[in-house]
Amino acid sequence: MKQNFDLHSHSNTSDGSFSPTELVEYASKNGIKTLAITDHDTVNGVDEAVKAGEKLGVTVIAGVEISIDFDPGTMHICGYNIDIENKNLNDKLGIVQYARKNRNSVIIDKLNSAGVAITLDEIKEVAGPDQVGRPHFARVMMEKGYVTTVKEAFNRYLAKGAPCYVDRVRLSIADAVEMIKGAGGKVVLAHPIQLKLESDEAYKSKFAGLKDLGIEGIEAFSSYHNEEENQKFKAMAEELGLMVTGGSDFHGATKPDVKLGVFGENVTVKIDELFKQSRFGG
Ligand code: AMP
Ligand code: ZN
Ligand code: FE
Ligand code: FE
Repeated sequence: MKQNFDLHSHSNTSDGSFSPTELVEYASKNGIKTLAITDHDTVNGVDEAVKAGEKLGVTVIAGVEISIDFDPGTMHICGYNIDIENKNLNDKLGIVQYARKNRNSVIIDKLNSAGVAITLDEIKEVAGPDQVGRPHFARVMMEKGYVTTVKEAFNRYLAKGAPCYVDRVRLSIADAVEMIKGAGGKVVLAHPIQLKLESDEAYKSKFAGLKDLGIEGIEAFSSYHNEEENQKFKAMAEELGLMVTGGSDFHGATKPDVKLGVFGENVTVKIDELFKQSRFGG
């Protein structure tokens, strides 16, 4: 079922395929009334998206998605209703952006050694002027016929544990909480399934630990979860008194299987309550 809100989406400021304006136009055409723009480690697309939202009658929530240093899976934390001018937020994001830039040529070297002949210029051409992410590498590899899908590019080359994976400086949970709360925002754990924990008990205790560290909500409803997982994570969040949020992680053509506004059947996110205590309204 399609919702009229989506709290997790990417523009081409990170690795989505739509510009911030195109993303909001697409949302408007698809019946989305409230859209959070949550680009990876950058808030550079927020202003443009908010302006497009004002024109089109879509409430655009200023967001960000921060990659955290975590094992065994990956941990992403979303910040919502943040002051994008906040100095500490921007300083810390700047460190990550610098680390990302340094990583790109190392990934290229590894791919070249593995027989994948692509260049940094080709990556920059698909990524545009803003931030590069691994899906851009995947897209070039597809265009040049080295793989047939983004998934194949990740599984064979780019994913954590694959031969051309290159780690980079990542922030800690404490960093992300401090950055987001310091900028007046709400702190939410994105797509918990990607933590790759081994049991429900492990998830419960992880969520409790994250709450102690300052996390305020769980993206229980996600396009990466099946219906059972959605309901399970929702119940765990509620038991701990954490907010329940939902989003698709829309990336446009970068992730063609992910549809805007689609992240479950029985979705129960209290969208109005979610942001009412925020400094920036919503
Ligand atoms: P990066 O910003 O370079 O860390 O890349 C993050 C992006 O890559 C996000 O959109 C992830 O969803 C995507 N991604 C990470 N791992 C995989 C995977 N195994 N398969 C497909 N996409 C992935
Ligand atoms: Zn992404
Ligand atoms: Fe994510
Ligand atoms: Fe995301």
